[in-house]
Amino acid sequence: MNASTDTDGREDLIPPNARAVLRIDLDALRANWRKLNEASGSAECAGVIKADAYGLGIEQICRALTEEGCRTFFAATLDEGRRIRMVQPGAVIYILDGLLPGAAEHYSGFDLRPALSSLPEVREWAAYCRERGRRLSAAIHIDTGMNRLGLPEWEVGELAASPELTESFNVALVMSHLACADTPEHPMNAAQRARFEELTRRLPRAPLSLANSGGIFLGPDYHYDLVRPGIVLYGGRAHENRPNPMQTVVRLSARVLQVREAGPGEAVGYGATYTIERPSRIATIACGYADGFLRALSGSTGKPGPVGFIGPHPVRVIGRVSMDLITVDVSNVPEALAHRGAWVEVMGDRVTLDDLTDRAGTIGYELLSRLGRRVHRIYEGAGV
Ligand SMILES: *Cc1c(COP(=O)(O)O)cnc(C)c1O
Repeated sequence: MNASTDTDGREDLIPPNARAVLRIDLDALRANWRKLNEASGSAECAGVIKADAYGLGIEQICRALTEEGCRTFFAATLDEGRRIRMVQPGAVIYILDGLLPGAAEHYSGFDLRPALSSLPEVREWAAYCRERGRRLSAAIHIDTGMNRLGLPEWEVGELAASPELTESFNVALVMSHLACADTPEHPMNAAQRARFEELTRRLPRAPLSLANSGGIFLGPDYHYDLVRPGIVLYGGRAHENRPNPMQTVVRLSARVLQVREAGPGEAVGYGATYTIERPSRIATIACGYADGFLRALSGSTGKPGPVGFIGPHPVRVIGRVSMDLITVDVSNVPEALAHRGAWVEVMGDRVTLDDLTDRAGTIGYELLSRLGRRVHRIYEGAGV
């Protein structure tokens, strides 16, 4: 391996114009899905691939999960659903946005199933199916305590009292979403589960789904017929403050654009927030907040930023993260390794997604889904 890079010898795959590279390990993704599929017992394990599969590429992620045996996918938007349909003619696809007004034919045209989130949506879908004389499938999304999407209790009551509403279409799934599944001890979990049992008893019999990633690890009581993992597929953690059992899927590296020397008393970056204390070498790296490296990861004097790695050597982020660039202190790295064109790994096994987002005061979901589109993506693993 060429020790001057942090791309594990994959530089043959990297075009010369690539400045920041996101490596996406599809084998790890598939292993994560297998683990979840086993953990969820007899429940079907779906894949949540909304927001471009949490920023990783909806087509590639969908294909890899399908090869592993995943059959059901959840997207947020109609457009995402269409993209999935293009690569997976046989997949079952739910749209979490629900039914957009007047858009029913856009769902049926691509065989997409809205997760109907209110009584008006149920009525509109039912009317559409009646008019067309087609018993199309949809999910019914009920609210068990989030007050976001989903039929509230009184609408569930109305629906239960109007069986004709659900006669013209196929209720393929009744689902709800947990508000606090990332915190296993939170009393809201059991409360939502009880509510889910109570409300679903009043509705026509259908397969049930409650668990997202965190819900799967709350145990079999939460699995029902289908589980809907997202973040853990991509290597994020399901539960706060617990060891993360998932494999690393994403690694972010960026090139050194320039290395310079600076002396005590000099400042680095916007706002001059970091003052150098000893003769130093500073590398400027081609990765900034427009690439998804959060500005909250800036380092200032007295408040160090995260580390990245050049080969085995840790390098600390100093100064503000700017749109296109970060600056790291490479004083402790041999000059033969820290040079123009070298690669710095800023996220991977050693500094994880969770490490970075804990430090930045956010969550893995946000960092992944905001990875910049200009970051060059490399898909690794069998079948790529
Ligand atoms: C995003 C989402 C999921 C997946 O959540 P994770 O926490 O990423 O596993 C599941 N269900 C619904 C309704 C969602 O919006």
